Amino acid sequence: MFNPATGAVTAQVALADDAEIAAAIASARSGFAVWSQYSIAKRQAVLFAFRELLNVRKDELARIITAEHGKVLSDAMGEILRGQEVVELATGFPHLIKGAFSENVSTGIDVYSIKQPLGIVGVISPFNFPAMVPMWFFPIAIAAGNAVILKPSEKNPSASLWMARLWKEAGLPDGVFTVLQGDKLAVDGLLESPDVQSISFVGSTPIAQYIYETASRHGKRVQALGGAKNHMLVLPDADLDLVADQAVNAGFGAAGERCMAISVVLAVEPIADELIAKISERIARLRIGNGADAAEPDMGPLITGVHREKVSSYVDIAERDGAKIVVDGRDFRVDGLEDGFFFGPTLIDDIPVTSRAYREEIFGPVLSVVRVAGYDEGLELINSGRFGNGTAIFTNDGGAARRFQNEVQVGMIGINVPIPVPVAYHSFGGWKQSLFGDAKAYGVHGFDFFTREKAVTSRWLDPAAHGGINLGFPQN
Ligand code: NAD
Repeated sequence: MFNPATGAVTAQVALADDAEIAAAIASARSGFAVWSQYSIAKRQAVLFAFRELLNVRKDELARIITAEHGKVLSDAMGEILRGQEVVELATGFPHLIKGAFSENVSTGIDVYSIKQPLGIVGVISPFNFPAMVPMWFFPIAIAAGNAVILKPSEKNPSASLWMARLWKEAGLPDGVFTVLQGDKLAVDGLLESPDVQSISFVGSTPIAQYIYETASRHGKRVQALGGAKNHMLVLPDADLDLVADQAVNAGFGAAGERCMAISVVLAVEPIADELIAKISERIARLRIGNGADAAEPDMGPLITGVHREKVSSYVDIAERDGAKIVVDGRDFRVDGLEDGFFFGPTLIDDIPVTSRAYREEIFGPVLSVVRVAGYDEGLELINSGRFGNGTAIFTNDGGAARRFQNEVQVGMIGINVPIPVPVAYHSFGGWKQSLFGDAKAYGVHGFDFFTREKAVTSRWLDPAAHGGINLGFPQN
């Protein structure tokens, strides 16, 4: 592993072999046997303790995230707070896993449903949110009585270990939250194990599709969240200063390594020139450096040198395809941190929509502008893409915004909000190749995903009402 700001190797992660994968599953099996029998009140006490510890000690976690991911400290804290929201939602789980009861559906017969945990559930997470993404899943899974095995990204594995230690301090029994460090071998071990009941995956689209297909083939419940290419549609009546601020925040925050980052601005003419000038002015003022510095910069480095080369190659492709590179971050370096994986904020104008740099996810601080003639052309571009994670419209026209929310084929929509990540009591998930499966993360979807329902039809026999022998299909 690297510190991306310095480029220095800071630690080694040991990747699990078959024996360690089996040991993790065996430990989770015994954890589940204990935890699933804990009363609701006792489970809730552990969740509240975890929430309190996290709240008090979150600075430690933020520093770990910044050291291994590179994002600035305030951004690391932001992801923890969004994860903490889900922990807080999960503390209210008794209400959310209640079943339902119908009395006297037929004379003397009651029907009720109960929600039970699945058993061992697997969570496989990406590098870009080492705390928040796991927290989209494990608080709810644990609250519902499951045992979780988390396979974090091998690029920044320490946050998951810190969270595991916090669970132990909070009183969670051993084996209920297990961290399995590893690569494809560990992932495949979870996908193929008959002991693992479900898989929650977040990462790039090709891997999400592989996870979805493989886990389904092994009979598992699966939610696999993939990549994105999020567009911001700007109508000519929008406040362009607000739009420029938000495009810069949403395009370059976390160096663009967010699945909800805005990577394309669709400027409805005649505003493109003015908007590009405003965005360029703001880019020139951005401070880029080591996210751990006390005088906190706006933006840190990319995750690895390999990823920086990939981002750079997409700017080369855009240029070759005839786009205009308005601000070029390819040769950007930070004084004193020449070995860090920095890439400067980049602004591209007139990118052809046939270019791979337009069609594929770049996952770096690269914002492209496409000029469109009107709302319909912009909408068509968004809807013809293969991703459907997030999008935003900027306008003061309520009717246009309302049309957009109805017509756009995307799972999460912002109206004058650039990064519309839903709060914990709604659910997070895109459409199309941004989500394989039909269950989103957290909110009511989360509780449904991590529980299995039983419906019970019950009659307490009254000898006088005994119906005798009748081989017909039961009717009311
Ligand atoms: P990734 O797909 O490379 O890795 C994700 C996880 O899968 C990691 O734990 C990794 O170890 C594992 N993995 C990688 N290759 C594998 C393989 N061949 N077989 C089995 N497992 C494998 O993603 P990443 O680079 O860590 O994260 C960035 C991606 O995640 C971006 O595409 C981003 O859009 C996406 N993302 C999506 C969301 C969302 O909510 N839709 C959120 C965050 C990130």
